[in-house]
Amino acid sequence: MTDPISPLNSKDINKDINTAKSAANDAAIIAKMRTLIDTLKTHNYAYYVLDNPILEDSEYDQLRRSLLALEEEYPDLVQPDSLINQVGDMPLSAFTQVTHDISMLSLGNVFEYDNLRDFMRRVNDRLSVAQQNPEYEIELKLDGLAVSLKYAYGKFVQAVTRGDGQTGEDITQNAKTIRNLPLWLADAADIGLLEVRGEVLMPKAGFERLNRLAEEKGDKTFANPRNAAAGSLRQLDPAIAASRPLAFYCYSVNQGLPESIETQSAALAWLKDIGFSVSAVKVVQNPREAQDYYESVIATRSDLPFEIDGMVIKVNSLALQQQLGFLSREPRWATAYKFPAETVMTRLHSIDWQVGRTGAITPVGKLEPVKVGGVTVSNVTLHNFGEIQRLDVRAGDMVSVHRAGDVIPKVTRVWIDQRPENSEPVKLPSTCPVCDSPVVLPKDEALARCTGGLFCPAQQVEALIHFVSRRAMDIDGLGANWLISFFEHGLIKTVADIYQLHNHQDELITLEKLGEKSVQNIISAIEASKHTTLARFIYALGIRGVGETTAQNLAQQFGDLDALMSASIEKLLLTPDVGAITAELAYKFFRAPHNIEVITALRDDGVYWDKVAQVVSEGLPLDGQTWVITGALDSMARDEAKAKLQALGAKVSGSISAKTTVLLAGDKAGSKMAKAEKLGVKVVGEEEFLKMLENS
Ligand code: NAD
Repeated sequence: MTDPISPLNSKDINKDINTAKSAANDAAIIAKMRTLIDTLKTHNYAYYVLDNPILEDSEYDQLRRSLLALEEEYPDLVQPDSLINQVGDMPLSAFTQVTHDISMLSLGNVFEYDNLRDFMRRVNDRLSVAQQNPEYEIELKLDGLAVSLKYAYGKFVQAVTRGDGQTGEDITQNAKTIRNLPLWLADAADIGLLEVRGEVLMPKAGFERLNRLAEEKGDKTFANPRNAAAGSLRQLDPAIAASRPLAFYCYSVNQGLPESIETQSAALAWLKDIGFSVSAVKVVQNPREAQDYYESVIATRSDLPFEIDGMVIKVNSLALQQQLGFLSREPRWATAYKFPAETVMTRLHSIDWQVGRTGAITPVGKLEPVKVGGVTVSNVTLHNFGEIQRLDVRAGDMVSVHRAGDVIPKVTRVWIDQRPENSEPVKLPSTCPVCDSPVVLPKDEALARCTGGLFCPAQQVEALIHFVSRRAMDIDGLGANWLISFFEHGLIKTVADIYQLHNHQDELITLEKLGEKSVQNIISAIEASKHTTLARFIYALGIRGVGETTAQNLAQQFGDLDALMSASIEKLLLTPDVGAITAELAYKFFRAPHNIEVITALRDDGVYWDKVAQVVSEGLPLDGQTWVITGALDSMARDEAKAKLQALGAKVSGSISAKTTVLLAGDKAGSKMAKAEKLGVKVVGEEEFLKMLENS
């Protein structure tokens, strides 16, 4: 009987195992490749055929790079239908298909300086020693879609999209509607066939306008200007295409270039001369210069009227371009130097609530950290509760995050079809996460607020600065710097503690640069401020929406603080100038227990005011009228004008509404003027106002 595991056999078995292992490995690699190819196919269709991507470009590029990496590592396993060498996709459309005379290819790309130098090294490797380190020409990489235009003896005859690189769609009729696309080239009238190529794009301003209109009509909006341009150009109705703000920028001459032109930069200068729009061009001698230009373009990118997603670096000599030729889907003499993606996808793990200095409760999204616009981002502002509802964003969602230039990153899109099961709509917290006071979200408002204005630590410094200000309690000498310092030293927490500072004089004196005299001055100013007016006191409380005028109106309307504090929303609404939002905010303010504590402490500490003299307006010439003052008056301060109007029986309000009788408009009257005109409110100038005062 033979030993079943003879050395020979075991060797064979091992070999078999390895083969089996490798087969299993191959199968796993192939499965991975197939998944990637099928996923990319789905995305190509959505992007190139439907002009409606279902993934951010950066995410798509990542998938494409994964497939490329697998193909490079396992060249034997490359699938016959791999997309790596494919250009675009051939749209299934009603347009006539046209075969390009010369293929329209894509571009290779680099993302970093080192890759750029590798690209230039590869160019050098293919050139003779004398030709090495050629001059390069740099253009902006316009983010639109490539089209080829043909002109016969100067007359525009055909426009075709890139399609799959070999065959595109005839979009001549739509191209004719692009405003800066020349239909006749007088200076090229002697050229039998001129073929130029370039990018059709939608400038940012036009894109925003188009999406705004679509939103207003309840139509679908476009994901970005590139998709908007592609969708517009491939409209079957040229009238619709004509209504879209498209532009064409030329970047190459592919047939019919005058022989005297020897460089890419000269070709672009010629295109400009004969009537095409051409974007910025820069000639550089080495990679360092290219890098400097790259950095300067990134810095000014947001000022450009259109989107760019990088720069294109081309060997400048047309003869060298010819010599270098093409790889399967891209030229060897050019590459795209892409900018860091400004929009990327990531997961939103949770939403935290923060309280701003003014009591605004703002949601902050906690992200799976991701690189966007060149920096790693892990927090994103969601602005307010209204924005959360508008986006319908939930914890666990995949979101697109956009960051351009120095702008704070924001969520621009929620990928609802990738939402995890059991996700819950976001709820607004009912109490402030810092001080536990009730949170209020006025009807039809997007921004929620903490009602603990006088108590909430997040708002205290702001509340203190406002409280002592000149038009509020007017505590001279107690400036913002001292307040912040006292606050940081734990000497004051709420506005009521200001009236206890006299008990801490020794501590105040030991504080940096604050001598005995200054401390005395501060204490005297605090003492003097105790005698105030009800209007000033109400204003000093810093209730949202209650400015000086509203505070005066509230003081007039209620006559004393207790009546105001116990007033219902309906009663508050009877006050001139007080609308639904202010009424609700004031009502909630006077019901937050901590605020009541602080007000009680202030009164106990001796803050007081004279009885409010009720203005009897009956029988006065302006009785029953509500005036608003805007702009600067030459002859008097606005306060004086206000006092004169009140003396004549008018109510003076701070904002225009349907209840306003007259707007007194001084110099540089702004938005109030426009609003008055819109509401049909009578507007009176300074001269007319002075005459009226004289007559009465
Ligand atoms: P590309 O857009 O990266 O580069 C090639 C193109 O650059 C050319 O065809 C030309 O149109 C353009 N270009 C702009 N300015 C130029 C200039 N000055 N000189 C020469 N060419 C210039 O490559 P691509 O193959 O057209 O498209 C790939 C892009 O499409 C990637 O950004 C990819 O993310 C995106 N894409 C996204 C999805 C998705 O699902 N989000 C799907 C498919 C493709």
